[in-house]
Amino acid sequence: MNGTHLHTEATQACWELMDQIYDPEIPVLSLNDLGIVRVIEVKSPPADAGIIEVTITTTYSGCPAMDWIANTIKMELSTLGYQSITIKHTIFPAWTTDWMAERGKEKLKAYGIAPPEKRFNIPTDGIPCPQCKSEHTRLLSEFGSTSCKALLQCQDCGEPFDYFKCH
Ligand SMILES: [Zn+2]
Repeated sequence: MNGTHLHTEATQACWELMDQIYDPEIPVLSLNDLGIVRVIEVKSPPADAGIIEVTITTTYSGCPAMDWIANTIKMELSTLGYQSITIKHTIFPAWTTDWMAERGKEKLKAYGIAPPEKRFNIPTDGIPCPQCKSEHTRLLSEFGSTSCKALLQCQDCGEPFDYFKCH
């Protein structure tokens, strides 16, 4: 009778759990902030057989963080009582930075990383400084601390900062 209700609640709990798992490369962004979890399908709630299937989108091809993320999801779901956990990876549709939640972009800025912006599809001078908001900034390198970031320096406050590139 209340099977659907149980499923909904169990699914909700899993989505909330995804908010507790953080990207190892950018520890302020949760999986939900990044928007990489596509589908959570509770086939049987933990109170029953505990079968679940989670579909995640690979963010950057060959990003080693994805293995870590998949393993962490498994580990965390098992603490909720799931016995059979399947993580499916999907490549299509490809993850783009558009999927990043606004909340995630705000967190990035607070962390000192300039969030991805469409108008800066190609990293260039003038990406606003996350520290002082100045647009008087200079591109130092197309590749920052990781290949998904570019390195800039603010000409006003002098701070170097990473820009999370558009994908
Ligand atoms: Zn600045």
